[in-house]
Amino acid sequence: MTDFPADFRGALLRPGDGDRYDAARALYQGRAADEGPALIAQCADEDDVATVLRHACAHGIPVAVRGGGHGSDGYAMPGGALVVDLSPMKAVTVDPETRVVRAQPGVLLGELDAAAQEHGLAVPAGTVSSTGVAGLTLGGGIGHLMRRYGATVDSLLAGEMVTVDGRKVRADEAENPELFWALRGGGGNFGVVTAFEYRAHPVGPDVVAGQLIFPFDQAADILGKLPAHMATAPRELGLLAVLAPAPALPMLPPEAHGKPVLVLVPVYTGDLATADEVIEPLTALGRPVADLVARVPWLQANSMLDAVAPYGKRMNLRGGYLPALSADAIEVLLHHAATAPSNPGAATSFNMWCMGGAISEDVAEDATVFSREGAAWLWEAVSMWDAPEHDAQYEQWATTVGEAMRPHSLTSGYTNLTDDLGEPWRSGVHGSEAKYRRLRAVKAAWDPDNVLRFNKNIAPATAG
Ligand SMILES: Cc1cc2nc3c(=O)[nH]c(=O)nc-3n(C[C@H](O)[C@H](O)[C@H](O)COP(=O)(O)OP(=O)(O)OC[C@H]3O[C@@H](n4cnc5c(N)ncnc54)[C@H](O)[C@@H]3O)c2cc1C
Repeated sequence: MTDFPADFRGALLRPGDGDRYDAARALYQGRAADEGPALIAQCADEDDVATVLRHACAHGIPVAVRGGGHGSDGYAMPGGALVVDLSPMKAVTVDPETRVVRAQPGVLLGELDAAAQEHGLAVPAGTVSSTGVAGLTLGGGIGHLMRRYGATVDSLLAGEMVTVDGRKVRADEAENPELFWALRGGGGNFGVVTAFEYRAHPVGPDVVAGQLIFPFDQAADILGKLPAHMATAPRELGLLAVLAPAPALPMLPPEAHGKPVLVLVPVYTGDLATADEVIEPLTALGRPVADLVARVPWLQANSMLDAVAPYGKRMNLRGGYLPALSADAIEVLLHHAATAPSNPGAATSFNMWCMGGAISEDVAEDATVFSREGAAWLWEAVSMWDAPEHDAQYEQWATTVGEAMRPHSLTSGYTNLTDDLGEPWRSGVHGSEAKYRRLRAVKAAWDPDNVLRFNKNIAPATAG
């Protein structure tokens, strides 16, 4: 790759460039650091993106794309690859009149949130500040606001994209509508998105949010009561239930530290005067050992999970949709939470996201690629560890969890909150067969040679 085009204006980093190369290739997924890409092209703007893609296309070089660097598969920095690194492209603007937010693909969720909150607004997105808007949006985007305002893709108005042969196109409801459909859940399969336009919504500035920590022996009972409870809860209540090792909090006895507990994470963005009516019945589902729910700024609520998301650990992720949080599914979750591997510096947690409300009821299944039909809850199992010699143990464990949860899960799912499970999972994860056929046709129209193949890949439809 020595003949790289001279008109590229950003930084080019190769193995041998020392700390700058190592800093550029660091991802949330620590295992990605085991191998390094051949060339990282840090793009200053969309012209740079077009330059790299034209060069790659002309030489038949497959391209990886780095947005915020949180993809659990580590596809953003594959060994030996050419990487379009979008992290320098960080502009974000908010029009308070139209509530249109425009973000470049290097913007992180914390930055998006901070810019929108200056005007009392938020784009519904994810829950950890260092996650990138780009990969999150292209996969779907779920978080504390999804029951009130839907998935991130439901608030996406347009994307600007550089095609693999270097053309700049726009995709929205009127222009390239089929591409616009595919960008709302089909991942980084079609081109490199250089700007996202969203509709933001009023949120905060204060909300009521935090954590309710319950002993593990209450978990089965509380999880069992949650579905009926949430069926009548307002859309303004977001709820995440977590089974995870207890933090070393002073209100927990020392012998409980590190042992699994149930944590309910409510985030209520409705009228603050009604918050007690919404939160107190949730607290009363059990006898919490710690009640850390309080009135806080939205920015604090939407970054409280940063503390449990350390950068650079080795990790894996399995997840899926539950049509119901049934007693059988709960039993499987509790059994695996109680028997997860335990190693120094490692942690395993199960997250159960309550869906319903806007994300489930306001958008038709085929309106976006991001699938949600029939999904009442989303489960994910996250393991993080340090030692490479534990890789096999955690992979085996994740496989066991995935198999145990399969009978309780839909075949569709959320691509961003699980590792790539290959075929046939990929062809079913977006929903119906017809949807996947449609996606393959869009892939064939925009990236027929599969230049963008370091992703949860959609095989281009073949002619005939
Ligand atoms: C700690 C943590 C917390 C998370 N929390 C949430 C959450 O609350 N809600 C949620 O919905 N998801 C969440 N996720 C999942 C997250 O949405 C995905 O990991 C997503 O892929 C991250 O995007 P990124 O840009 O940071 O990652 P990257 O690794 O940079 O990108 C992931 C992939 O997206 C593609 N891509 C990225 N940018 C572009 C672009 N501009 N054009 C074309 N393709 C592109 C590439 O194929 C790339 O490999 C979380 C992940 C982690 C690790």
